[in-house]
Parts: sequence; structure tokens; C-alpha cells
Amino acid sequence: MDTLARVGTVVFDKTGTLTRGEFEVTSVHPDDFDETELLHLAAHVEHFSTHPIGEALRTAFPNEATHGCKITDVEEIAGHGIRANVSGCTVCVGNSKMMDAIGVKWNNCHSIGTIIHVAVDGKYVGHVVINDRLKDDSAQAVKSLKRLGVDHMVMLTGDRKEVAFDVAKKLGLDTCYAELMPADKVRYVEQLLATKTENKTLAFVGDGINDAPVLKRADIGIAMGGLGSDAAIEAADVVLMTDEPSRVVDAIKISKKTMTIVKQNIIFAISIKLIVLILSAIGISNMWQAVFADVGVSILAILNALRALYLSLIHIS
Ligand code: ADP
Ligand code: MG
Repeated sequence: MDTLARVGTVVFDKTGTLTRGEFEVTSVHPDDFDETELLHLAAHVEHFSTHPIGEALRTAFPNEATHGCKITDVEEIAGHGIRANVSGCTVCVGNSKMMDAIGVKWNNCHSIGTIIHVAVDGKYVGHVVINDRLKDDSAQAVKSLKRLGVDHMVMLTGDRKEVAFDVAKKLGLDTCYAELMPADKVRYVEQLLATKTENKTLAFVGDGINDAPVLKRADIGIAMGGLGSDAAIEAADVVLMTDEPSRVVDAIKISKKTMTIVKQNIIFAISIKLIVLILSAIGISNMWQAVFADVGVSILAILNALRALYLSLIHIS
């Protein structure tokens, strides 16, 4: 609560945090290859993936599970993509970084969206364009956070620059870093931790898919509980059950108000005790005043603390 009440920097993950993480395939651009076959292979490779991109590719090729191909040696490479053996062919599905890593020449695409390239046995076969939508309350959350005194808002994403800057501009975020690997995200957060204002804290909001290490590293890790992975929930300090970024605002409000109550109680209890202590030292106070200073003050402090319950009732409805 204390750390959350002093938040000065909020770092967001993009996919699944500010955007819905519900990708839809908007176009398929095969390169000297059959379009259906391209989707077929991509869907198979993503068979076991929990990444939102994997889900989109599976949905784009219905009946994937019953197609009877043999999928082995699945390897998901965080921030890059996924590779598997489908009926004897090595199929790689991922971003341009993955294609570079395996030495496959890829075609650039001018469509707006996340581009997922596909290579079969080291040969480029084309790419799929998928698109995600902003969550309804993302823009409102950013605005409210500014009003609450958060002076620096950053977005970190593994997605392409074009998509990332588009999202950051729409939401009015201060800074945006794109095409990051999970390790880069940790590096940027460490850099931000080192340069933040003293006494202010840094919160990271993510869904835990490829960002669980950052959730752990930030002063406060806030995870999306619905879409997020178990690793995220484990690594986080705060879990948002509804996956709405605007809940971050509520969490900070509750913390700030709770901290005010805590301070009121400390000041109130210590001052009454001190006054009665001094009065009794010089022989002015009686026993009943001492009883009040001890038990009475405690009861009043507890009653004051009960207001925190009301706070959570108005915010968590
Ligand atoms: P974000 O930081 O926006 O949450 P991620 O770090 O989860 O994004 O992923 C970064 C990029 O890595 C994706 O945009 C995609 O290009 C690629 N990628 C990751 N996982 C997969 C996957 N299972 N299939 C295809 N591509 C993937
Ligand atoms: Mg993510």
C-alpha cells in the first residue's frame, strides 16, 4: 500500500495489458505458397501456445486439432516466436527477428498490424497480418493516472515499432520502446528505476506473457489476473481480476486513502498518549484519562481504520 501510494512512474506492457490480446487475422500474404496450407502449418505450430497470437492463428484455421498431422519438438522462443516439427517439416512462426535469427530472408509488409512470418524447412513461405484492439478503458486509465500524479508513463512491447507507436500515440503515453526481448524489458525497467525521482516508486503492469521477470523487478508488479499466466500472478504484488487498466487507478486511490488513515491514526494515538503521559507525570491526570489514552485511543483508531473497508466497497463493485 505504501509503495503503491507513492507511484510516480507506470510502465505498461502492450499486448494483453493495454490491448485486448484478442488478435484477429486480417490478411494472409503467401510467398509462392498455398494460402490455406500456410494457415494450416501456422495453426499446427501454435497448437500448444498460450500466447494471444497463437490463439489467433489457431482460430484462423478451424478444425486444426482434428487435422491429424503429427506435431513434435515444439519450442516457444519468447519475444521471437515458435518452432515445431509438423509431419516431418520444421516450421518456424514468428517475427522478423526470428527470421533473421534462422537466416531466412523475409518480405516487408505495409499493412498496419503485427506481422507473423512463416518459414518451412528454412524457406520463406509468407506472412500473416493480425490486429489487436485497444481495451475500452485504456485511454481513460492513462488520463486518470496523470491526474493522480503519475508523471511518467512508458510502454514496453515486443511488437513492431509501427504498431507500438500507433498505440502509444492514441493513448497519450510519454515514452514507448518497441521490438524488445523479455530481457530488454528488464533492462529498460532497471534503467527507469535508476533514474526515477527519489521517494517515488515504479509500477509495472503486464499480463505476464513474456514479462514475468519485469513484474518481479519493479517496485510494484501489477498483473492481469484473467488473461495473465500463473507465473504472472505468482510474480505480481497486485492482481487485477477483471483485466481492466482502469483498475490500476482504483488500486492507487485505495492505497493513497488507506495511507492517509494510517497516518491519521499514528499521529492521533501518539499525541494523546504523549499528552496524558506528560499530564500524569506532573500529577494532573487521573486513572480514567490514562485508560482512555490507552484502550480508548486504540478503539478510536480501529473505528477510523474501518473506513478503509468502505473505501474498498466503493471502488471494488
Ligand atoms: P508484448 O511485449 O507486446 O506483450 P510479446 O513479448 O509477448 O509482446 O511478443 C513479442 C513478439 O514476439 C510478438 O509481437 C510476436 O511477433 C512474437 N511472438 C511471441 N510469441 C509468439 C508466438 N507464439 N507465435 C508467433 N509469434 C510470437
Ligand atoms: Mg504481453
